[in-house]
Amino acid sequence: MTRRPLVAGNWKMNGLRGSLAEIKAMDAAYDDALRGRAELIVCPPATLIALARDIAAGGGIGLGGQDCHAAPSGAHTGDISAEMLKDAGASYVIVGHSERRSDHGETDADVQAKAAAALRAGLTPIICVGETRAEREAGEALSVVGAQIDGSLPADAPRHIVVAYEPVWAIGTGLTPTVDDVAEMHAFARERIEARLGGGKSADIRILYGGSVKPSNARELMSVPNVDGALVGGASLSAKDFIGIANAYR
Ligand code: PEP
Repeated sequence: MTRRPLVAGNWKMNGLRGSLAEIKAMDAAYDDALRGRAELIVCPPATLIALARDIAAGGGIGLGGQDCHAAPSGAHTGDISAEMLKDAGASYVIVGHSERRSDHGETDADVQAKAAAALRAGLTPIICVGETRAEREAGEALSVVGAQIDGSLPADAPRHIVVAYEPVWAIGTGLTPTVDDVAEMHAFARERIEARLGGGKSADIRILYGGSVKPSNARELMSVPNVDGALVGGASLSAKDFIGIANAYR
């Protein structure tokens, strides 16, 4: 079992062409020593992926999309297919982020179809799950995340998929779960992924933690058993902070 840590940045709906300087700086700071320890990717808005590819063409920092449609092409105005993201230079795509689930009403079935589309196109899906504050307070965090894993992972998903545990209440709030809660959830998630996929695949599947990861807490969170990296929102907009987080693995 060798799970290479993955630190992924999610720029959400932020970033104009001028922001490509941050990706350039990330790529420059992603030196051989850090490459030997962790994989780094950034998921800018789709408008910047092809431009970012030209910056990061040297096998350095990787690129991902933030969502994809389940279909390869067709009459879906405003949507982007996994094939288009791949063509633009992405190798990953985030699916089922809680902001997609809440803003666009995406269900587990939608997320599963998007993850399958990503795999069809040759992209690695980063499948997001996580409970709300109310669900945690009601003692339902494990059952909610378990059901999301069952419903969002394609049954035949390969071992290179990535799962991100992102408690909704920790996203963009500065709040984080305790180390014990993260450890409990990640161990539970790995068992549930195994129950869903079988074949020992869960031993190879990277489970990221996401929610208010910063340079100051990255080392502690990344040291928790079964945490194989981070999905980073706000702090990934700055090369300094993003590399500061990735340096937890240096
Ligand atoms: C996210 O949106 O995936 C996220 C984890 O955001 P933040 O790091 O800003 O909490």
